Amino acid sequence: MIDYPIKIGDQSLEQLKAHLASEDFSQVMVIADENTAEHCYPLLQPFLPMHYLCKVPAGETHKNLGSCIYIWQQMTNAAFDRKGLILNLGGGVIGDMGGFVAGTYKRGIRFIQIPTTLLSQVDASVGGKLGIDFQGFKNHIGLFREPEGVYIYPGFLKTLSQKELHSGFAEVFKHHLIADAAAWQDLKLLSSLDGVDMAALIDHSVKIKAKIVEEDPFEHGARKALNFGHTIGHAVESYFLEKETPLLHGEAIAIGMIAESFLSQKAGLLPAKDTGEIVAFIKRFYDFWVIGEEHFEAICGLALNDKKNQAGKILCTFLEGVGQFRINQAISSADIQAGLRFFNQVI
Ligand code: NAD
Repeated sequence: MIDYPIKIGDQSLEQLKAHLASEDFSQVMVIADENTAEHCYPLLQPFLPMHYLCKVPAGETHKNLGSCIYIWQQMTNAAFDRKGLILNLGGGVIGDMGGFVAGTYKRGIRFIQIPTTLLSQVDASVGGKLGIDFQGFKNHIGLFREPEGVYIYPGFLKTLSQKELHSGFAEVFKHHLIADAAAWQDLKLLSSLDGVDMAALIDHSVKIKAKIVEEDPFEHGARKALNFGHTIGHAVESYFLEKETPLLHGEAIAIGMIAESFLSQKAGLLPAKDTGEIVAFIKRFYDFWVIGEEHFEAICGLALNDKKNQAGKILCTFLEGVGQFRINQAISSADIQAGLRFFNQVI
């Protein structure tokens, strides 16, 4: 149940300030990575009461137990008690990990998400999924816990690289594909994010995600719609995380959406015209490379360990036309390989 404020726009930092002034916190700690400490913290600092700043290295490879231990240590050194508050200032890595750290420290203290990437503003900061990677598996250790509030300031995006912006955009068009066929008709004409009203785009995505999460907070049913592109995408992301050519989360999910659109079409659920339009759209935003067949087996192995699997079956969300979805579709390793082969052919 989303009963906390989600504020989007230029006034969101002012609104955060009012929120902090209205509550009683014993200590406040901002968790940032090296980039958000440099680019975003100076914009946030004037709105904050007295606080600690805890800085961790940036990137998915640091979304691990070692970073958590470091943060718990800082909180312990600062004698943080159960009335303390954590402010997660960063992308999905800081949001997921900072929330996990807060949710487990002394059996859970409050935290606020202040997302600074497009991906975290439209997706990761909403819905209460928290966690870290473990032994090569994405988000393997974690919990569901809602934040005290989400404050989304689109101005943070000014310092984000175009590659990161496009990575986040994958979750934006995923929301269109699963839930808003009418908006997709406009979006599919875009060939660049220049001049796009980001606050409006973020608002649209957050509304879709929040509605789905409200319906099914613990992912027993409808929330699985949000996994479109993620069964194959996560396996591809996990595989390349360990390699010299890692993919950003949204880039891997875009690959997953191409492969899973193909599988939706193969299952007779998605017209070929839609698959073609999805592929053409995605290709405008990403520089992909062919995934060599020698990697396929290992990628399938990772998909077999996906959290969403049940009774040994790899489960996937298909599109049932644009704007609708069908959850719990069992796919085999051969299907995944066919999906990846299709991706290699069309990119
Ligand atoms: P990220 O947090 O690693 O941020 C990407 C990079 O951008 C980092 O180097 C970061 O330091 C930098 N950065 C962040 N904000 C910046 C800014 N405003 N200016 C300049 N640089 C900035 O990655 P991400 O793409 O935001 O998030 C990916 C993570 O989110 C993954 O771990 C994924 O599993 C998770 N995720 C979680 C959910 C969820 O529901 N909890 C949903 C989707 C993704």
